[in-house]
Amino acid sequence: MDDLTELPGNRAIVIQNITCPYCGISLQSDNDTKEHVIGRRFVPKGSLNGHWNLIVRACTKCNHAKSILEDDISAITLAARYWFEPLDSDESLLEGIRHKAKKSISKITRKKVIDSQEKTDLKVDLTSSASLTFDLVAPPQVESERLHELARMQLMAIFYFLTFNKTKKTGGFWRGGFYVLPEAHHADWGNELHKSFMNIVAAWKPRWLGDTADGFFRSIIRKHPSEECWSWALEWNKNYRLIGFIGAQAPVEEVVSTLTHPKIMHIDTGVNSWVRFRAETQIADEEDCLFAWDGAE
Ligand SMILES: [Zn+2]
Repeated sequence: MDDLTELPGNRAIVIQNITCPYCGISLQSDNDTKEHVIGRRFVPKGSLNGHWNLIVRACTKCNHAKSILEDDISAITLAARYWFEPLDSDESLLEGIRHKAKKSISKITRKKVIDSQEKTDLKVDLTSSASLTFDLVAPPQVESERLHELARMQLMAIFYFLTFNKTKKTGGFWRGGFYVLPEAHHADWGNELHKSFMNIVAAWKPRWLGDTADGFFRSIIRKHPSEECWSWALEWNKNYRLIGFIGAQAPVEEVVSTLTHPKIMHIDTGVNSWVRFRAETQIADEEDCLFAWDGAE
């Protein structure tokens, strides 16, 4: 993994591998499935037409586990942004998102994603005689562990492809760990943690730049200047961003110790009760360098 792999913009990349990129098992005829690394139903219908995807072979169990992760994560990443900030006025795109939100079931609420908004009433006592009440509506949620597991699987398949040996028909796995930082949705891409992460790794050279599905899937892997360690970032459905590292632990710890942590704010709501929240921070286009690379090596 020493050179930048930049993908052609318009065709599927198909590899005929003989081991599963996720669990490493040897694929046999009864346990061999076609796996779209960017799930066709993970991004809006039709958005992959004329754009690249990575198509590998995977075992039945891993393929199934990944498609279960993709189902509600896709509906939620799309719908959450659609409810709060309509993506654009493309009616067929919006109709597809509504359709998906009616079909997919949230693993948290066990209800349809479209019925899984979370409502809370928040009452804040300002003085003994004055109080404020907020009705908060949060978009449907996904457990962070499930977001991280899907990110890990997508990165494993990309890493397997980047290290694929055509003669042996197998790819590799990274040595070391998989490290993930707190994810951010679109309204919070500018939080201090994400901003300090993107500013630090912007100087690392990309080894992979993968943008597809009309921008509904973005990915980048950058190499640490001297250590066996890579930073990675994924953006799903123009909404959720996941960031982190793979590889050796010591350089990861060193970088993480220099990151700025987002401010946590407290509001007292009465005796022995408080609400923790953090203001969300959008990012300006000119500040956003998470997927930026000027092409100069
Ligand atoms: Zn497998």
